[in-house]
Amino acid sequence: MIGLLKGICVAVGLTLLVGAAPVFSQDGGVRAALDALVAAYPAALAGHDGKVLRWRDGTVMPVSGDTGARTPPELLRRASVIDQFRFPYPRGSFDRSSAIDGDPGRLRNTAFFTKMYGNCRRGEVLGKLVSVTWLPKTWGGSIRVTSVNGVSERLRAISSEIDVLPEKIKRAAYPIADAYNCRNVADTGQPSPHGYGIAIDLNISASDYWYWRRAGAAVYRNRIPEEIVAIFEKHGFIWGGKWHHFDTMHFEYRPELLGIDGWASDALR
Ligand SMILES: [Zn+2]
Repeated sequence: MIGLLKGICVAVGLTLLVGAAPVFSQDGGVRAALDALVAAYPAALAGHDGKVLRWRDGTVMPVSGDTGARTPPELLRRASVIDQFRFPYPRGSFDRSSAIDGDPGRLRNTAFFTKMYGNCRRGEVLGKLVSVTWLPKTWGGSIRVTSVNGVSERLRAISSEIDVLPEKIKRAAYPIADAYNCRNVADTGQPSPHGYGIAIDLNISASDYWYWRRAGAAVYRNRIPEEIVAIFEKHGFIWGGKWHHFDTMHFEYRPELLGIDGWASDALR
């Protein structure tokens, strides 16, 4: 059974790789992607030269990993900084009937995110978490997310906007299924963005997840209203409903994929 599931995952992944058109296939593409990354995290990143990222604390981090051919499962486990831009994220209204290449935003370089937000398994994230009251007019439960990069403030703004939507729309946004959670991604074994405090899962009973359907054809289905997706994207969060390996409850803070600039300093908040 495990072998069968693995085979399905590999088959899905290979299909994606063949159809992928990397945005960084030329030097200009790499520079544009890294410009977007630096602009998205100006409090942490000082710049880049196309080969390395320079962090404000003096750390220098290569943007490319191994350049040999890698299978999709290997990419998920060993993505480089520039691999994070491999699949352009389709901001805005979304027609799933058109084929989508890959999982835009699902490739994450562990060193990059761990440096940015901390390693939850070493207790480096807890001290950066703050509580946010989610949909105070409607639900009022408390969720924990990071304050780094203003993530908690952005989620407060998102909550305020969803809170005043009609009930039939906002019903998909509560109760919250998960926010901060020090765990790995179910199918890849890699650190979950929930462990960095940058991700939130909405109402599980209104959600669909490819992994639940992995034993059969992963037929896409979505019940999250596009009004909710648009609000999250406006504030720098990508949606897992736009992944080939769809996860429609999942949103995570990835402003670099949306062309959204971050705050230059925490003091500006
Ligand atoms: Zn999630």
